[in-house]
Amino acid sequence: MTMMPCEEVARLLWQFMDRELDPVTARALAQHIRACRGCGPRHEFEARLRAIIQEKCAGEPAPEHLRRRVLALLSDI
Ligand SMILES: [Zn+2]
Repeated sequence: MTMMPCEEVARLLWQFMDRELDPVTARALAQHIRACRGCGPRHEFEARLRAIIQEKCAGEPAPEHLRRRVLALLSDI
């Protein structure tokens, strides 16, 4: 089985955390996160960041413009 590319993981990470992915994709992504030294810490970081955003927005989903800005920042790391 070929591993999902890192770019794909980065693109789908928020959907994964929101449990919006289909089970097959979600499983492939989880496997990648466990196996990849780059995406593992990235996932941890984004999960923490997401928790902070959710707290600030009192349970509402992050506004799209905020999400985009955060993702743009992350892509520079
Ligand atoms: Zn990766």
